[in-house]
Amino acid sequence: MQINFSKKNVLITGGSRGIGKACAKLYASLNANVIFTYKSNKHAAQITLEELDKKGRHKSYQLDITKPREIERVFEDIILDYGRVDILINNAGIFVEHKITDVDYIQWQKCWNETIMTNLTGVSNLCYLVSRHMIQNEGGKIINVSSRGAFRGEPNHPAYGASKAGLNALSQSLAQFLAPFNITVGVVAPGFVETDMASEILKSEAGNQIKKQSPLNRVATADEVARAIVLFSMKGLEYMTGGIIDINGASYLRT
Ligand code: NAP
Repeated sequence: MQINFSKKNVLITGGSRGIGKACAKLYASLNANVIFTYKSNKHAAQITLEELDKKGRHKSYQLDITKPREIERVFEDIILDYGRVDILINNAGIFVEHKITDVDYIQWQKCWNETIMTNLTGVSNLCYLVSRHMIQNEGGKIINVSSRGAFRGEPNHPAYGASKAGLNALSQSLAQFLAPFNITVGVVAPGFVETDMASEILKSEAGNQIKKQSPLNRVATADEVARAIVLFSMKGLEYMTGGIIDINGASYLRT
């Protein structure tokens, strides 16, 4: 089995750092044209762009996924430049602590609004635009990055857990709706991953306990998650649509 994304245009949100960056590098090494977005860290985006294998044509775009008009404008620019998007990876996300005993009512609402707008509503808006584009193109693949927290609960980050549970439900609804249009939708659900998002908590006292949640006594690497994402986007695995792949080192087992 050969994995080759030559002439495929892959759009990755939040591709400047962490899991998105690992995806950008992996797809570039597999000959894809990589289009990735970032929110504000232009420097990180520039470094990522420079690190990509130069077999395809790559470009980064600044995009705040919480802004519906900005999504529309950036997606139009991408289509003008690249003509089409074959694979969409909805990876951008935030993980904001808001313990019910620590935040006031206003902060509580702010955390919920920001988290749901970024991790769920923003994804649904981009899925809307890209799905309609893929329907016209008679096919495509969408992969959404969820989390173990959707299943296990997130006591200190409840909006995050809810956003990812919602993302799973959104993905499965889209998988059913879009299948007749030759569009597949897959979900990957990592536990903790070695990225900026998790670095503070992994460096804290809780870090060792978190690693021990897995019998492998570690957290995932961003590369491991990227490989599962690539799997979902491969030709020949279309029947996996609607599925959710756990990447949590057996730290939380669902049946
Ligand atoms: P990360 O290292 O914090 O990187 C986040 C990326 O998303 C950056 O490229 C960032 O852009 C971008 N971003 C943040 N807010 C955005 C917004 N409003 N609009 C557009 N882009 C935005 O995150 P990560 O750890 O790689 O996480 C990636 C995904 O995996 C997330 O959906 C996360 O929930 C999920 N996940 C992560 C873990 C973990 O332990 N790390 C575990 C389970 C699931 P800038 O560079 O400009 O800030």
